[in-house]
Amino acid sequence: MILIIGGGIGGLTLALNLHRAGIRCQVFESAKEIKPLGVGLNILPHAMRELSFLGLESNIAKDAIETRDVSFYNRFGQHIFTETRGRFAGYEWPQYSIHRASLHDVLMKAVYDRLGSDAIKKGHRFKELEQSNEGVVAHFNTEGSCPGVRTYRGCAIVGCDGIKSVVRSSFYEKNDPLIYSGITMWRGITKWPPFLSGSSMVYAGWLETGKVIAYPISKTDDGMHIINWLCEFYCPPRNPKGDWGQKGRIEDFIWSCKEMTFSWLNIPEMIKAAEVILEYPMVDKEPLKKWSFGRVTLLGDAAHPMYPRGSNGAGQSIIDARCLADNLTSECDEVTAFRKYESDRRPKTSAVVHANRSNPPDAILREVYERTGDKPFKELNDVISVDELEALSDQYKKIAGFKLEAVHNNKSPM
Ligand SMILES: Cc1cc2nc3c(=O)[nH]c(=O)nc-3n(C[C@H](O)[C@H](O)[C@H](O)COP(=O)(O)OP(=O)(O)OC[C@H]3O[C@@H](n4cnc5c(N)ncnc54)[C@H](O)[C@@H]3O)c2cc1C
Repeated sequence: MILIIGGGIGGLTLALNLHRAGIRCQVFESAKEIKPLGVGLNILPHAMRELSFLGLESNIAKDAIETRDVSFYNRFGQHIFTETRGRFAGYEWPQYSIHRASLHDVLMKAVYDRLGSDAIKKGHRFKELEQSNEGVVAHFNTEGSCPGVRTYRGCAIVGCDGIKSVVRSSFYEKNDPLIYSGITMWRGITKWPPFLSGSSMVYAGWLETGKVIAYPISKTDDGMHIINWLCEFYCPPRNPKGDWGQKGRIEDFIWSCKEMTFSWLNIPEMIKAAEVILEYPMVDKEPLKKWSFGRVTLLGDAAHPMYPRGSNGAGQSIIDARCLADNLTSECDEVTAFRKYESDRRPKTSAVVHANRSNPPDAILREVYERTGDKPFKELNDVISVDELEALSDQYKKIAGFKLEAVHNNKSPM
């Protein structure tokens, strides 16, 4: 029995992969009740590929928007670059924009359907572990019907307990701080009319003066869209704890986008109509030199917390889950499987952590901002060529593993 600590995106995807491989597992989640927390995220084709193999694509599609294109603008609304995405760009798998809670719900229902009603033990907060040559023991503080302390035994532990992982801190108690990027993000959702192609993702502005990202994540019955938006800029740390649920205040950031009243989207008006505003610091941690300790390993944000930019936080955890399940299937013991999983995934995800710091997918906007000195341009070609724009976009795709050839060449699950 594999003990999965954390029933977030990575933990649940791992449970589904292990079930498919015929490996027994049990998920432990600290939350007593799963609430629809967070806002939107993107599932890129490399992650959708794995979710499709798990038979989840049609359920995801029910409450998501299939992204058609991504467009970049400067803060004056001048168009810089557009590229198609997912199936519209020739991938076999789509790109979806979705509320995190909807994705989580699809995964959770699939886990209950396939693994049974007791597959997720809620109200179980992991505290500490022990291991020997024979197996592992995990200790939990429990809430709910039988509050107290509970202990479970298994053959291995996978820490999927997110950016503040307690499993990780069992091995890295010291010198493992959250590192603030200097950027704070305000995120929210607003019911608003469709814009551009109706399934476009847009990036506008740059971090020195204020950058906005907006994309639809679902449709409403009256023809409107639920738009996920994000407004971010450089500022001193405000919420360094990295709490996904922290409420945000419009007066703290609306000034940064007040002139982004584009003909195709009035950004300040859309933000003023928000149903939810959250504030989150862009934080990550230094990539680790080791994730696997005998019968214990890490997955997702617990292993490689990264800035939530480039749509890779959820995606990389989904890919980790497939890789870990494949190794547990092909190796005859957990220790070897964990070592092999780590040697495949650690260098790749460390590269994404670094790319998200220095060469994110919207580096295009930084280039144009710097070359124009934050002024409107007359001819884009005088500032940057189409070849350079494509090269910048391709560079991130290559590092994050979602270049078309890489996604298509990857083998099907074992
Ligand atoms: C409430 C919440 C809201 C989020 N909102 C967004 C968002 O809007 N946009 C975005 O891009 N990303 C968001 N994220 C982060 C995003 O889900 C992750 O970056 C990504 O999906 C990687 O998934 P993960 O499974 O590694 O981590 P997570 O999805 O963070 O899952 C970790 C899970 O472990 C549980 N857990 C933590 N500590 C313990 C413990 N001691 N014992 C047992 N269980 C524990 C948590 O409750 C959580 O369910 C959010 C995460 C959370 C937890």
